[in-house]
Amino acid sequence: MTTESKSIAIIGGGIAGLSLAHFIGEDCEILEKSTQCGGLCRSFEKDGLTYDLGGHVVFSSDKEILKLDLDLLKDNVGSHVRKNAVWYKGRLVKYPFENNLADLDKEDLFDCLWSFLNNPQRPQRNFEDWMYNHFGRGITERYLIPYNQKIWKLTPRSMATDWVNRIPKPPPADVLKSAVGIPTEGNLEQLNFYYPTSGGFQALPDAFERSVRGKITKSFNVQRVRKRNGKWIVSGHSGDYEYDHVVSTIPLPYLISVLDGAPEHVATAARALKHNSLLVVMLGVRNPNNSGQFGVYFPQEHLLFHRVCFYNFFGHQNEAGASPVVAEITANEGDSTWSKTDTQIIDSVIQGLKQEGFITNRSDVLTTEIRRVKHAYVVYDLARSQNLHIVNEYLDLIGLYRCGRFAEFRYINSDAVIRSAKNLAAKLGY
Ligand SMILES: Cc1cc2nc3c(=O)[nH]c(=O)nc-3n(C[C@H](O)[C@H](O)[C@H](O)COP(=O)(O)OP(=O)(O)OC[C@H]3O[C@@H](n4cnc5c(N)ncnc54)[C@H](O)[C@@H]3O)c2cc1C
Repeated sequence: MTTESKSIAIIGGGIAGLSLAHFIGEDCEILEKSTQCGGLCRSFEKDGLTYDLGGHVVFSSDKEILKLDLDLLKDNVGSHVRKNAVWYKGRLVKYPFENNLADLDKEDLFDCLWSFLNNPQRPQRNFEDWMYNHFGRGITERYLIPYNQKIWKLTPRSMATDWVNRIPKPPPADVLKSAVGIPTEGNLEQLNFYYPTSGGFQALPDAFERSVRGKITKSFNVQRVRKRNGKWIVSGHSGDYEYDHVVSTIPLPYLISVLDGAPEHVATAARALKHNSLLVVMLGVRNPNNSGQFGVYFPQEHLLFHRVCFYNFFGHQNEAGASPVVAEITANEGDSTWSKTDTQIIDSVIQGLKQEGFITNRSDVLTTEIRRVKHAYVVYDLARSQNLHIVNEYLDLIGLYRCGRFAEFRYINSDAVIRSAKNLAAKLGY
């Protein structure tokens, strides 16, 4: 058994672990399972093209965190204006859908507008009620329900509403303007965004990693966490390591499963927390027909993917003339989508894109790749809040800190993760 004393162990080297170490300084050690840090913010190279794990861009209403990101990226960043669309009845409706009703045909436009203006309010018991109340039947049934059902793999009726502040509510004047063709933008938070010039989104965690002054130990899979004589012992295959504090940035249910002494009711609550996994299909495509759009949202049930990002938007292209196209598919281990072979999934994506006209010929797809991401989305089912409360109460009691998307079990982006890391570092005295 090896014993080494460091003040703070940070389990996991995603953007949460890296940014926390950035704020803490020397007194910490990151223990990262993988051979590389970055977690969900990682990028992958293939055939001269760089692919992210689903469409990641830098944006935030948190000015301080956004400035930190941009300062760390230095000159390796470009500024962009959003160009996203929803694919609806064979046409690109500018995103967000409710801000561009004039792009619909007249019948659809009338029904969306009429039901937005004549919208009897329901008692708000779940996410479905929330959508009907804020958007009206037309927009909800045409776009919001089918799209959200694809991404969450749950009926909106079974989902809570304690996350919907992420979804911008359209001002009525904007919906009216959009219906008569006066341009409005909607969701201003991500209208202007940034993206690294080279290295993909991973340039961001890489920049944080370069700023870390503590130790980073990679290929360290944490398998056991326990308290002994007032110190924390964190164990992996290479031995036991001792710390004054532990911060976990890894998924909460896994943490509880490797934590000595967690009471049964806490373990049960942790096991009941739900997440969705993601299949990320990465294609190198010559001349995709995306009409200059970056992200395209697909509510159609018959298409496997719910969103596709086209990196020719940033001018990315390899020597063979292919640019990265990244399709996101929600799935869960063991379900009918996850159980398909990689080839079946890739073929289904290519066929879907070809059928909808985004790819002209199969031969335009020059390179393919797929990644399976186990923890991608926190699912806000109706029991999440109560289960999370039980787990948090116990971890607070024993003084085990958490930071990050799955460690806090919140649907947060990298900016909110970094904010949480900054707050925690301050709480720890840094
Ligand atoms: C499809 C998609 C699109 C997104 N788009 C955006 C976007 O546009 N902008 C944005 O800001 N954010 C976006 N996000 C969110 C962003 O990716 C996350 O908020 C952020 O990456 C979470 O970081 P984290 O460090 O909390 O978790 P993770 O990235 O999951 O990191 C956890 C780390 O812990 C490690 N680990 C796990 N188990 C162990 C163990 N046993 N021992 C040691 N280490 C372990 C993992 O290897 C990983 O490195 C998106 C997310 C998804 C899924």
